[in-house]
Amino acid sequence: MKQGSGLPVFPGVAIGKAVVYQKAQRQEAVASGDPAIEQAKFEEACATAKEQLSQLFEKAKADLGEEQAAIVEVQMLMLDDLDYLEAVAGEIANGAAAATAAADCGENIAQVFASLDDEYMKARSADIRDVSQRVADILNGGSGFHLPEGKFLLVAEDLAPSETIQLPRERILAFVTRQGSSSSHTAILARTLNIPSLVQSDISLEDAAQCETLAVDGFTGNWYMDPDAQTLEMLRKKQAEADSDRQALEAYRGRKSVTKSGKQILLCANIGSPEDAEAAVAADAEGIGLMRSEFLYLGRENLPSEDELFEAYKKVAQIMGERPVVIRTLDIGADKQVDYMNLDKEENPALGLRGLRICLTREEIFRPQLRAIYRASAYGNLNVMFPMVASVWELQEAKALCKKIREELEAEGVPTKEVPIGVMVETPAAAVIAHELAKEAAFFSVGTNDLTQYTLAVDRQNAKLGRFYDPYHPALLALLAHIAKSANEAGIWAGICGELGADPKMTETFLKMGYSELSMAPGRILATRRLVCESEE
Ligand code: PEP
Ligand code: MG
Repeated sequence: MKQGSGLPVFPGVAIGKAVVYQKAQRQEAVASGDPAIEQAKFEEACATAKEQLSQLFEKAKADLGEEQAAIVEVQMLMLDDLDYLEAVAGEIANGAAAATAAADCGENIAQVFASLDDEYMKARSADIRDVSQRVADILNGGSGFHLPEGKFLLVAEDLAPSETIQLPRERILAFVTRQGSSSSHTAILARTLNIPSLVQSDISLEDAAQCETLAVDGFTGNWYMDPDAQTLEMLRKKQAEADSDRQALEAYRGRKSVTKSGKQILLCANIGSPEDAEAAVAADAEGIGLMRSEFLYLGRENLPSEDELFEAYKKVAQIMGERPVVIRTLDIGADKQVDYMNLDKEENPALGLRGLRICLTREEIFRPQLRAIYRASAYGNLNVMFPMVASVWELQEAKALCKKIREELEAEGVPTKEVPIGVMVETPAAAVIAHELAKEAAFFSVGTNDLTQYTLAVDRQNAKLGRFYDPYHPALLALLAHIAKSANEAGIWAGICGELGADPKMTETFLKMGYSELSMAPGRILATRRLVCESEE
């Protein structure tokens, strides 16, 4: 038995066959010496690639919706791009093997696109590389990634979004990656699929490919290869307990979250994409308490347009219907970086230009978000909140722009609805002046992850500081109590959307403090509802 660990991103236990996903190795293709033969091989490979992509497009559309499937559509169009086709024909005429020409020309064009100023063109470079590599892989005899029958645990160095959308989701028992973070695409997918998963693991891909059985404990973050009888028994017991607990929780599905004394609490889901909203509904969420809109900005190479944002928000609004949805405006900076925004490298990014500060500094980034939110407001029950607020004037400035944008849209004849504007309370300053902010805000949602980091001056990203990062610290509890009291006195609602919102040790305390909303990963909702319903509060 071999064992190791990683960062768990979803609890549960999975035991089964490991499949290692390896990106296709670049092989040195040998030219036949006859350009006509190489050209014919290239054209045949392009036809096969088109066929594969069109099947992938249908699958992505059915599984993930039109928007995600558009990645594939763009790649299909590139196989008809004259610049690419002529460049490949030129290399082949000069004696290159079809596979080498396909990959090299793709790489050359990708590099030209990557160096352009236009953000849209820049973003196309990854697609060109992806599609030309697909053609080269076909010419080299396939990608070498073959899935066995049945269900399996997927092990990989890392997975790109274009790779995850090709996977047969229903057959994956767990993800184990060597790279990635808890906000990586793989982690989000794992949470959406409710499957135990580890990122940043110390697993060896070679060993995983050889082992008979791989087991993942998403509660502790441990993985085991060919576990011995005792370990297997321990894991099976945990798995059975988790299964029977999940069954018991089903009794709480469809119920309201009401305490024994009749206090009603809203239990909502944290999401990162429109697809997650479907998982939230499946998990019986009573709303979306935090849509981390920055996920719409990650894993791409240009800013999403107003229309793209609008489509995403509209989809969430429609999926959730009358249930409330809180969209947090862009919270880029600190742990979530995107190169294409060309933000300065900072000495202290956690204290730098992040969250609302970026939006108030660069209106061209703020505007499309607010316009998209107001446009989408007509389709559901949307709320907006701003991250990293520290002062009242920041909220006032953001609110003024909201007002202006709503007026602008009305003048354009675009229907909008009132969108309650709230504050994400995650800086100690905002917590201390909560009574002042409450005069201007329609609600508070506490980001306990950052509030803990900033109150205790402990980097939330630094695993070595684990025991110093104490979300139960009396200073935190005092701030949390003050925030809820300020909200209640001002007659606005207060919720928790940081990780602490799903912490069973805190549910009763939050109820006592006067919080009326808790937002969490969808998979935690029924367990929290049980606690709320059992509470005397
Ligand atoms: C938080 O800070 O608690 C929070 C919910 O936001 P994020 O984790 O995205 O910073
Ligand atoms: Mg935060």
